This record gives sequence, structure tokens and C-alpha cells, in this order.
Amino acid sequence: MRQVDHFIVGERPAPTRKANVWNPSTGEVQAEVVLGDRDLLERVVATAKEVQPAWAATNPQKRARVMFRFKELIEANMQELAELLSSEHGKVVDDAKGDVQRGLEVIEFACGIPQVLKGEYTQGAGPGIDVYSMRQPLGIGAGITPFNFPAMIPMWMFGMAIAAGNAFILKPSERDPSVPVRLAELFVEAGAPEGLLQVVHGDKEMVDAMIEHPDIPAISFVGSSDIAHYIYRRGAEFHKRVQAFGGAKNHGIVMPDADLDQVVNDLSGAAFGSAGERCMALPVVVPVGDETADRLREKLIPAINALRVGVSNDPDAHYGPVVTPQHKERIEQWITTAEREGSEIVIDGRGFTLQGHEKGFFVGPTLIDHVTPNMSSYKEEIFGPVLQIVRAKDFEEAVRLPSEHQYGNGVAIFTRNGHAAREFASRVNVGMVGVNVPIPVPVSYHTFGGWKRSGFGDIDQYGTEGLQFWTKKKKITQRWPDGGGDGSNAFVIPTMS
Ligand code: NAD
Repeated sequence: MRQVDHFIVGERPAPTRKANVWNPSTGEVQAEVVLGDRDLLERVVATAKEVQPAWAATNPQKRARVMFRFKELIEANMQELAELLSSEHGKVVDDAKGDVQRGLEVIEFACGIPQVLKGEYTQGAGPGIDVYSMRQPLGIGAGITPFNFPAMIPMWMFGMAIAAGNAFILKPSERDPSVPVRLAELFVEAGAPEGLLQVVHGDKEMVDAMIEHPDIPAISFVGSSDIAHYIYRRGAEFHKRVQAFGGAKNHGIVMPDADLDQVVNDLSGAAFGSAGERCMALPVVVPVGDETADRLREKLIPAINALRVGVSNDPDAHYGPVVTPQHKERIEQWITTAEREGSEIVIDGRGFTLQGHEKGFFVGPTLIDHVTPNMSSYKEEIFGPVLQIVRAKDFEEAVRLPSEHQYGNGVAIFTRNGHAAREFASRVNVGMVGVNVPIPVPVSYHTFGGWKRSGFGDIDQYGTEGLQFWTKKKKITQRWPDGGGDGSNAFVIPTMS
């Protein structure tokens, strides 16, 4: 059985615990990942402490060159990375390429680190006084990442942290751990010093050790909300800088004047792509008015029935299996709960099997209508290929629904009316808004972050905010007296003689 090891410097300790890595398409265990403990973390932190000062002292242009080479290596290895990712996660290979690509874009931003690291300067803030600022690395950054974007989210974190002069310890999801290790290998091939980026596998034991470690000053987390909140609280106890991003339940508002064919096309990708396992998926659609709802439903049914579910390397599949058997069971339970709560299961994806792959973790596309805000299946994240219709009577209700939901990651409005869109974007209580854009993930030179239970902490991921998170700002006020008086300490311009 293949074993996925830590990516660390020196000998790897004999594993005491391991976890299964599935092939979600076949339902078979394809590898085992070793799970680390506190002793391993001690070693890894010691290595990071050794290599980080020299890296921080390397000028930003040279650091950027490593990022450039890393970018080129990722591009050269795109197909291999995507296939590996797809085989452990279950998303189709094209989606897996998108996962790598969106992380790569943050590496591209990090290539510009000399430009964005420049500080501020005020000459003559007082008589003979200048004030300036510099951004200094924190030392060692740590990242804890979810299963659903095993390439993109690690690169969001370590790309910015390392370019800024930190060493980085990554603890990826134990469910699809191979791509993060492969990225770390490529990073060394790109010229990064060994030990600058280390990957340790583990579960709660390793995460707790990271939170409690006195030499790790900052932790970035992405995952489910209860764990995000736990890490945020515990991190504060240990005086850490923490950003912790959680779950989501993004709404797509459909105004009566929207182009419904475009909406149906967008929803097919945004609700069902990657089997709905995206924090920026659109699992709730809110048509405004019953007439819009009925027209939309009529168009959605054939489009959803036409979706092709397949193994993750099937080039014709719209989406593949979900990540584990437990997750498949959980999604199907949510559909049952929605039914019990009184909503209408229009298309039922429970009990779906794929011929020839009966053991794979597939869930058929599901459409649920007449969902109401009091239902638990609406309040909680399902994270599967399930689209719920919540009918709003008017625009005001359509603004209120996402605004009052516990999650506030993303939201979209579909309309031809600029005023309605503008009003919605400014009033809705959600962190990222799309106007006729179903998955409004901001590009790498902006920044990413949800609100409410989708994000704990106030600094976003990547872009200049990422830089802010991974550095501390020093402010210097300086005065150089000319010596004055008797001339003994007078300012003298040095000459060759
Ligand atoms: P998860 O919370 O189960 O795991 C995330 C990480 O936390 C993993 O590395 C895991 O090993 C670790 N972990 C698991 N249990 C832990 C515990 N008890 N204590 C400490 N650490 C623990 O999340 P997941 O299932 O891997 O990912 C899916 C979730 O992530 C969804 O809720 C999704 O919405 C969310 N997500 C959010 C964003 C965002 O930007 N807001 C992006 C991607 C995914």
C-alpha cells in the first residue's frame, strides 16, 4: 500500500498512527497517510527556526525568483498534479486543474513581492524628523487546510507567507494529502532552501500542538465553522495571530428580469460542479416571486437531469464522487431531513450508483423546492450536489435571507437591472458578492474572505491583506542631529582623502 509521508528534513519517524486515503471513484483505499504528533512538530519547528533567518535576509528580488521558478514548475507539472488531486479528492480533472490554477495565481502575485513589500516614508514629519515603516516577517507561519481545495488553499497561504520572508509549516487535510507534498517537492526544485516549507500530516493532535507551540506566531485555517471557531478561540489564548475561515451556504438571488437560460447554466456549474464541495458553491437559489420560481424550476429540471456524473477521470463527466463514504452518507441524510421538514424533493440523488463503479461515493444531483428559512436543511451546510429553492416574495426578502443566514461567505444576484444590483451589493450582509457572476472568488491581487460564521478574524487571505497577515509592521521615527554648537560633532561629508 502506498504511504503518504511528511515532507520534512532528515529522517522520518516511524509512524504510530495512519489514516486511509480513499479513491472516491472506486470506493477503495488507495494509500495510507501517516499522522504526526507533538514530537514531530518540535523537530519541524526547530528546522524552520534554523532556515528562516537566512531566507528573511535574502533580498526580496531573489525570493521572487524562487517564486517564478516555482510557478514555471507548477505549469510544467499541471497535468500530473491535476490527476493526482482528482484521484484523491474525486473532482474531475478539469476542476482539479482549476484548483491548481487558482493557487498558482497567488504564486504569481507573490512574484511581485519586492513591489508590495515597499514601506511608507514621510520626510520632514517634524523638524529634521522622518517617519517610515517596514514590514517584517513573523518567523514561522502555519496553515491548516481543508480537503476541498488541496492545491489552491495551501498556495494561498504559503505563497504569501514565504514570499514575505517566513518559514511555513503546512498541515493539509488528511483526506487528500498527496498534492500538498508534491507542491513542497517542486518548491525545493525551484530553489527554495530545504526546510522552508514543510508538510506535516495529522489530525486534531497535530493541530492542537500547532496552536500551543510558542514558536509559531500565526495560524491560517480554512475548514468547517466549528473547527474554525475553536482554532480562533484557542489561538487567541496562546496569543497568536489567527485567521480562520469556515463553512458557507451561498445564495443566488434571481430577479424576475434575469436571463433564466444563463442562470440555469450558471447554477448547473455553481451548485453541482465539484459535487457541490466548494465553499463558494451556490447551493441555495432564491427566485423573487412565484412566477419567477416556477419558470426557473421548469428550466432547471431538464438541465439537472442532463448532468453527467462519472468517475473523476472521465473527461465527459460534469462532476465526480464526493470525498468519503461518510460524507456521502451525511449528504443523503440531509436530503432525508429536508424531506421530513416538509420541503419537496423534486430530483432525488439518494441511492445513486454508477454502473461499473458501484462502490464509488457518488451522489446524484438533487433539487429541493419549497425550502423555508426555519428548516435545519436550509440553516446548515450540506456540501454536496444539492440545490435548494427558497422562494422570496420580493426584493426585500431576497436581501434579508442571505443577510440573516449564519454564514456569509458569498452571494450572487442575477438581474438586468443595475439599480437593483447596486442596491443589493451595498446592503447584503455577506463578504463576497457576484453580480451575474455565480462564483465571485476575487482574483489574486484583490483578497478573499467571508463574514459571520464563514470567517473569524479580520484579515483576509492573499493579495495585500495576505501580506499584512504574514508580516508585522514596524514604525520608525528618526532624527539625525547635525551636532551643532562647538562643531565637534558637526556633519562632515566624507572625502577620498
Ligand atoms: P474540516 O473542518 O473537517 O477540516 C479542516 C482541517 O481541520 C483539516 O486539516 C483537518 O485535519 C483539521 N481538523 C479536523 N478536525 C479537527 C479537530 N477536531 N480539531 C482540529 N483540527 C481538525 O473541513 P473539511 O471537511 O476538510 O473541508 C470542508 C469545509 O471547509 C466546509 O465547511 C467548507 O465550507 C469549508 N471551506 C471554507 C472555505 C472558506 O474560504 N471559507 C474554503 C474551503 C472550504
